[in-house]
Amino acid sequence: MSFSTLGLSEPVLKAIAEQGYKTPTDIQKRAIPIILSKKDLIAAAQTGTGKTASFVLPILELLNTGYTLRGKRIKALILTPTRELAVQVEASIANYSKHLELSSMAMYGGIDAEPQKQRLIWGIDILVATPGRLLDMAHQRALHFDELEVLVLDEADRMLDMGFREDINKIIERLPTQRQNLLFSATLSDDIRQLAKRAIGPHAVEISIKQDKSTQPKIDQWLVTVDKTNKSALLSYLIKDNEWKQALIFIETKHGAAKLVSQLEKRDIKAECIHSGKTQEIREKILADFKSGKIQFLVATAVAARGIDIDDLSRVINYDLPDKADDYIHRIGRTGRAGASGEAISFVAKDNFRNLCAIESKLGHIIERKEFEQFPVKKVVPLSILNYVPKNKQRL
Ligand code: AMP
Repeated sequence: MSFSTLGLSEPVLKAIAEQGYKTPTDIQKRAIPIILSKKDLIAAAQTGTGKTASFVLPILELLNTGYTLRGKRIKALILTPTRELAVQVEASIANYSKHLELSSMAMYGGIDAEPQKQRLIWGIDILVATPGRLLDMAHQRALHFDELEVLVLDEADRMLDMGFREDINKIIERLPTQRQNLLFSATLSDDIRQLAKRAIGPHAVEISIKQDKSTQPKIDQWLVTVDKTNKSALLSYLIKDNEWKQALIFIETKHGAAKLVSQLEKRDIKAECIHSGKTQEIREKILADFKSGKIQFLVATAVAARGIDIDDLSRVINYDLPDKADDYIHRIGRTGRAGASGEAISFVAKDNFRNLCAIESKLGHIIERKEFEQFPVKKVVPLSILNYVPKNKQRL
């Protein structure tokens, strides 16, 4: 199947060809015709499935009517959990719409609102925004929704995890009731269904997408059990011994991130860290340097790392194991993108045993363990019990 059978027009097809996409991914095959027929859609699809193009391409078609907006109006609103994802989605829109006359903008907090307000004055066809800044702008009457046609909730599960439920509800109250609604989420939990009921209504088409072969990550996962006090030495050893050139390193706290950078530097490994304590401008600069290869090792807290999208990221390291199994899946999905191969390595201390059980249960298999004789473990991590259900019924 090719893109031309999906009902997309020449300028969009041309942009897709220029991106080098040959065939649509599963979600694109299924979602594009549904969206073009103006139906509401709820889609379970993870990052890496090609989901962004699956909603951006048909939205471009639907909005490409030559109709000019009034000032401070938008035709489509895409809500994302993070500024990084907003920037990334808007970059995709700019790519796919380059042969069309449609405007787009990413709007997020943490930076001066004035330039964003100025751009809104003439109207923006497609606005990609984080919920907080969007509400601010609406309160200040810098933006009105009366011409809105399409709402997209992207990574809806992340938005709920990050506490945006109330903001989303407030935004929805401001939107015209006649609109098309699209919701994308890695998982369709009860929480998401509740949100969908409110935001989307009862007549949405629901689809669920497994990873498509062409974008199926080939991720080599392994773990090292390690005593907490040895983690930074182990990381330095692995980087040097394997001559790694790149890694995104996940860590739990801001303070831990800064400390790890200085520990690595003491061992002659240059690294940078990114966390919510740094300004948006600095974070963007660091991210750009990491993408270009200027920075080889980036230590990131989970929140700061959300939305980081690097096509050829070769390696992620869980220096601290995440609390939730879904977060593990999401993190390792950042490597091995678009069919490339990647490596995901986790450092597991005895305290992480419960989390490890939950992760391996979710994966349905035990993760390969590697041992390094220079780092003998005092506190042994037992093998997981698969199908483990945590007592506190923590949602996995
Ligand atoms: P997403 O799931 O939207 O984050 O997309 C994952 C990656 O797949 C992105 O790097 C896209 O550029 C890429 N991609 C999207 N659609 C296709 C396609 N039809 N063929 C090949 N790569 C694609």
